[in-house]
Amino acid sequence: MPLGAGIHHLEANIALHVFEAPEPGPTALIQAGIHGDEVGGVHALAEMLEAEGLVPTHGKLIVCPVMNPAAYRARQRAAPGGLDLNRCFPGDAEAPERERRLARKFMDLVEGERPALMATLHESHKRYDPEVQPSFGQTLVYGVEPMPEIVGRTVARLNARFAKPEEHWAPHYFPVATSSTEVIVDAIGCIGICVETWMGFEEPHRVEMQKAVVEFLLDDIGVRRLPAS
Ligand SMILES: [Zn+2]
Repeated sequence: MPLGAGIHHLEANIALHVFEAPEPGPTALIQAGIHGDEVGGVHALAEMLEAEGLVPTHGKLIVCPVMNPAAYRARQRAAPGGLDLNRCFPGDAEAPERERRLARKFMDLVEGERPALMATLHESHKRYDPEVQPSFGQTLVYGVEPMPEIVGRTVARLNARFAKPEEHWAPHYFPVATSSTEVIVDAIGCIGICVETWMGFEEPHRVEMQKAVVEFLLDDIGVRRLPAS
């Protein structure tokens, strides 16, 4: 069942901000903090929520700013003693491990909402280099060929805004079978994008870039149109 506007909770400490625009349009879902040491996207969404920068112009926007709060508090990839949540999809409501149960709750959410776009915000210790696998810094990762056109357009807009060579963004085809992105794309046929900033930059710059990615994706999919420039 689709959620109405307001703040809902996947678990007691996992908020879902649901916005409905006055104009019809698609649904987009943005999630961060599935890995607790990758704070750029978490803080980007927090700042955007504070600035009312996620209020959609069309359709519906669902934001999960901190998907794994225990991992985020510990600033670790996984919660202490826990599993890598992004390797637990599609999850299992009856599993003994918290992460598998949580993954299943998130799957129930996406199956109820059927977003057109699902983006998950990550960070990487390594700058992307096609010769070095894995390396993700400054990529939009997708797991289904052909590359969704929104990926190419968004990478081009990012490279126009962030023009220094070390800031360069690239598309990167890298499917991960049990990740939230791939499993959700398989389940509902949406566009799934994993956003990766490079942790070699200071946090404020990573936050700035994460915010730009979210703005460009939401503008492109038509949920939050930017003023024409
Ligand atoms: Zn990650």
